[in-house]
Amino acid sequence: MRKITILGATGSIGLNTLDVIKQHPNEFEVIALTAHQQIDRLQTLCLQWSPRYAVMADPQAAEQLSLRLQKLNSKVQVLSGTDGLSFVASLPLVDMVMAAIVGSAGLLPTLAAAKAGKRILLANKEALVMSGQLFMEAVQQHGAELLPIDSEHNALFQCMPINRSEIHHFKTSEVKSDDSAPLAHTLEEMGVSRLLLTASGGPFRTTPIEQLHEITPSQACAHPNWKMGRKISVDSATMMNKGLEIIEACWLFAAKPTQVEVVLHPQSIIHSLVEYIDGSVLAQLGNPDMRTPIAHALAWPKRIASSVSRLSLIDIARLDFEAVDFDRFPSLKLAIEAMNAGGTTTTILNAANEIAVQAFLQKRLRFTAIHKVIETTLSRLTGRVATSIDTILEDDTQARELAQEAVNLHQ
Ligand code: NAD
Ligand code: MG
Repeated sequence: MRKITILGATGSIGLNTLDVIKQHPNEFEVIALTAHQQIDRLQTLCLQWSPRYAVMADPQAAEQLSLRLQKLNSKVQVLSGTDGLSFVASLPLVDMVMAAIVGSAGLLPTLAAAKAGKRILLANKEALVMSGQLFMEAVQQHGAELLPIDSEHNALFQCMPINRSEIHHFKTSEVKSDDSAPLAHTLEEMGVSRLLLTASGGPFRTTPIEQLHEITPSQACAHPNWKMGRKISVDSATMMNKGLEIIEACWLFAAKPTQVEVVLHPQSIIHSLVEYIDGSVLAQLGNPDMRTPIAHALAWPKRIASSVSRLSLIDIARLDFEAVDFDRFPSLKLAIEAMNAGGTTTTILNAANEIAVQAFLQKRLRFTAIHKVIETTLSRLTGRVATSIDTILEDDTQARELAQEAVNLHQ
């Protein structure tokens, strides 16, 4: 039995993870479930799964959940705050941590899991965007295993040779460094020339650009192929999501930004591709359902069933590809520039994006002003070398303040 903590259990990724685990009751045991402040949802999950711990980031919500569970004679222990999240992410008895909190709130608990040497199933891409270098160093130093859940990165991972483990410093019994073949260290040494990230283009790929300023939150959250949380849905509509994913790919696979390319693929059937120097291009395909990458990472290097429907190429009939239009998706360009600038510039980008997306979802900012808030924030705060998590958190806080001001400016 592999023991797991699910950070962000009430969200889209969290619930999909529980769905896969439910199909394999003898393989996985749920030790801890966490949420922000959705008391009803976490209560339901606690009664269903009887974890040892439930954590609510919000202390008042935790108090209420605790009272309710006591009345129901539940033995679940309720904790709260970032400390509670980090505690369940680093418990000695836990083998794996699903990092599925959305946004910067996921950073410290995910980092705690890395420092405790856990297998981390990483959905929370914002953690890597905020603190890529320090995060990867923590993974390496503490012998953690990092398995990508983001469908594109999971696809890239599946298309790489098995000895890719050295790049991530994965530590598994199956792939030990005493293997007779020397382990590869860089993409070049593995013969990889490019990582091709596919992108659906979101709901506004073909919407006339002059209509974009009228987009409402519910329109932006209606993704054509994926059902996801609201923040990542807006990121997909602006394509900032793909920008964050370029940054994520650079850290996960030790790639240079010039080695990562984005191609629009509206059907979301090819989840990403790896190009090799001999001209081979390997792709991973499947129906767009997050239970595939989740099942892959839960069981890696084994395979387990996920209940995802079989891919029918005959039904799909065709796969289309297009180049990205940066005029339509200016946020994507900002993300690439931030990655090239390095240091805490991506921390600032991420913070400004979170503030802008929140303002858009609260109808305080137009869809077309999201990238302006990010651009203004980046012009007012210069990134620096990220020497410690404190540096990162300082720049994150400052960027949020500046981004709030920029929201007022661009309203
Ligand atoms: P979601 O909004 O559906 O769920 C987010 C979860 O995080 C919830 O459990 C919520 O309670 C928790 N949470 C929110 N704010 C918190 C806070 N301040 N402190 C503690 N917990 C908090 O989001 P999602 O779609 O499941 O996405 C989760 C992460 O996975 C994101 O980083 C997203 O980019 C990434 N991701 C999601 C998908 C997808 O298909 N949904 C695909 C790839 C990557
Ligand atoms: Mg993705």
